[in-house]
Amino acid sequence: MKYIKKNHEPKKFSDWKALENDDWKPNWDDNFQKPEKSIVHDSLLQEQGYICCYCGMRIARATSHIEHLKPRTTYPNLALDYTNLIASCQGESEEPPPVPVHCGHQKKYWYDKQLMVSPLEVNCTDFFKYPASGEIKPTDDPTKQAAAETTIEKLALNINKLQNMRKVAIDAALLGIEDLTDAEIQQLAEGYNQLDSNGQYTPFCAAIIYILKNYF
Ligand SMILES: [Zn+2]
Repeated sequence: MKYIKKNHEPKKFSDWKALENDDWKPNWDDNFQKPEKSIVHDSLLQEQGYICCYCGMRIARATSHIEHLKPRTTYPNLALDYTNLIASCQGESEEPPPVPVHCGHQKKYWYDKQLMVSPLEVNCTDFFKYPASGEIKPTDDPTKQAAAETTIEKLALNINKLQNMRKVAIDAALLGIEDLTDAEIQQLAEGYNQLDSNGQYTPFCAAIIYILKNYF
């Protein structure tokens, strides 16, 4: 999981919500659609460097959906609050979602302030460790384990499909690494923290960075 630094919401989204009057209210279910919805979706993708807010796989508009961190069922007042919106893998129109289900569609209406690790928390990365096998595991810090374990379970982050994809990403990142010095490896790790020239992060960069930082 990689930290998502939220930007300001798109102006067109604010303008649309400001149209609210006695006869018309902006509403996620009834009237939130193109073009505003696509504008928000694109803004989220850009903000996240085109990787899923939870698993970190590559996403685009067609292969992702707008996810409510705090579900709109229990937090209806946050349904159109930009600070509560993130982009998760697996498309919106795919009903039921493709198997295996994971991330936002798996999470559904779950949220737990104590037990959910949120990608909007600066230290979210510290809750997990990533062995070279492609698995995701709770960190050794006992104060973080319950939340990490629950989040992995609720979002299905350790399913075979994601393990395999992580392993491929990790293996690619480790190619030729044995020729590098420690300093160069740390520099390489920092590089994965940066957006590339296309404004994208490398898929599964959180796992790659973890492996590089712990490589010796
Ligand atoms: Zn995902």
